[in-house]
Amino acid sequence: MITAKNLYKRFGDQVVLDNISIDIAAGEVVAIIGPSGSGKSTLLRCLNLLEKPESGIIRIDDVTLDTEHYTTREEYALRSQTAMVFQNYSLFKNKTALENITEGLLVVKKLPRRQAVEMGMSLLEQVGLADQAHQYPVTLSGGQQQRVSIARALAVNPKAILFDEPTSALDPERVHEVLQVIQTLARRKTTMVIVTHEMQFAKEVADRVIFMADGHIIEQGPAEHIINFSDNPQTRRFLRQLI
Ligand code: ADP
Ligand code: MG
Repeated sequence: MITAKNLYKRFGDQVVLDNISIDIAAGEVVAIIGPSGSGKSTLLRCLNLLEKPESGIIRIDDVTLDTEHYTTREEYALRSQTAMVFQNYSLFKNKTALENITEGLLVVKKLPRRQAVEMGMSLLEQVGLADQAHQYPVTLSGGQQQRVSIARALAVNPKAILFDEPTSALDPERVHEVLQVIQTLARRKTTMVIVTHEMQFAKEVADRVIFMADGHIIEQGPAEHIINFSDNPQTRRFLRQLI
C-alpha cells in the first residue's frame, strides 16, 4: 500500500531522513518507535508532503510521485490517499464534533448535507461518541477529542491513516479509550502507520515495529521480536530509557 524509496530530507545542514526506504502492505499496522529527534514525525509528514523531501519516490496505492519534480495535481492526489491524526487532535474549535467530521465531506467530497450528517453520525457511533455529536471540542476530554479526530480521519475514506503519537498528550486514564479505537481499526485491517511510545500497545496492535534513530531505520521486525528480544545496542538503550 505504501512504498517510499530513498527519502532524503534536510533541515538546513541537518540530515533528518537519510535515504529511508519503507514498504507497508495493505492492512498492515506498523509502529514507528525511536528517540525524540530521530525523524519519526518528519517521515510521516513526508509521506503526505506536509514536509517536502529533497529526493525520493513515494507511492501510496495507485499514486506514485517523484519528490524532486511533481505537479500540484500529483501532490493533491498523493495527499488525499492518507489521513493524519496528530498528537494535539487539531480539531476546529468553533465547530461541533459532528461538524468537524462533516466539514471534509461537504467541502472536499461535496456530499449533500443529509448524507454527510448521516455518515458523520455513523462514524461518531463507531468511536463511541454519538451522544457528544453537538458538543464543541472545549467541552470534550482529550481522549474524546482524539476519538473525534480519528472519526474525521476515517470520514475521507483514506487508503491509510498516519498517527503521530496519538496518545502522548492525553491524561494516563484517557489513553486506553483511544488505543481501543485504534485496536478496532486494526482488526478491520485498516492500513496504519503509528508513531508511538506505548510499547505494550505496539506489541498488541502492530504487525511490525520500525526502530529509527538519527534519520535511519536501525532495525525492523515483528513487534515482540524488536521490543523484547532485540540485540541491537541502540534499540536496547532506547527501550531501557522508557522504563
Ligand atoms: P521525532 O518525531 O522523531 O521526534 P522529528 O521528525 O520531529 O523527530 O525531528 C527530527 C529532527 O528534525 C529534529 O532534530 C528536529 O529538531 C528537526 N526538525 C523537525 N522539524 C523541523 C523544522 N520544521 N525545521 C527545522 N528543524 C526541524
Ligand atoms: Mg515526533
